[in-house]
Amino acid sequence: MPCGKFSMQAGSPRNPADPPRGEPKGRFDVLNDLRAIVFDLDGTLYVSNDLGREINLAASRYVAELKRIDLVGAAALIRATKKMLSAASCVDSTLTMAIIELGGDVRELHRRFSTEIEPERYLKRDERVVELLRLLGESFELAIYTNNNVMLTTRIMKSLGVGGMFNHVFTIEDSWRPKPDRGTLDRILQSIGRRPVECLFVGDRYDIDLRLPASLGSAVFLAKNVEELLNLIQFTSEES
Ligand SMILES: [Mg+2]
Repeated sequence: MPCGKFSMQAGSPRNPADPPRGEPKGRFDVLNDLRAIVFDLDGTLYVSNDLGREINLAASRYVAELKRIDLVGAAALIRATKKMLSAASCVDSTLTMAIIELGGDVRELHRRFSTEIEPERYLKRDERVVELLRLLGESFELAIYTNNNVMLTTRIMKSLGVGGMFNHVFTIEDSWRPKPDRGTLDRILQSIGRRPVECLFVGDRYDIDLRLPASLGSAVFLAKNVEELLNLIQFTSEES
């Protein structure tokens, strides 16, 4: 099936101020229901090309060993696999999906990430994000839902100065199934005790972080950098 046709059925990226499809709700109706905000971590609460490069390098080292090829060949193979998966599914694919497709084990990939990557080298406390979460935390429950592992998630949050600011933290280790995954999302909603319409999902990749929750009726907010993320305070404020 051509991607365009699938995209129309699944829904396309939309402005966060738009009502969820099929429900004629304005932003104030969304705010009435809103109880919890579920954030992606990497690329959403911070952007670091250097840390992203380290993660890709660690994945390439793993694939190089698996396939007995050099590092450059492994990096090219991962890129080609992600592209192939995206073309086949008509939505963005993740690094984890590509590694699984190449015969890798998601637990081994993350064991390597945990031992080989030092996020502290690339991240520092961001007062803007700390203040944003402090303000949002006064009105809403806050959660993290990330495809990263427990150790790196903890270290990244500590480096950003946001450790301890979330009511719930969900990582890849809860199910070992990367986002987007319906079963995992259902368990997360159950765990925080919220219906989809009571949650706002915030992420930097629509296909990975937002498309599935939006299809269930959650509000979604796409933020590709911290400047865009800071607009959340206006989006969730009744005075604006
Ligand atoms: Mg992300």
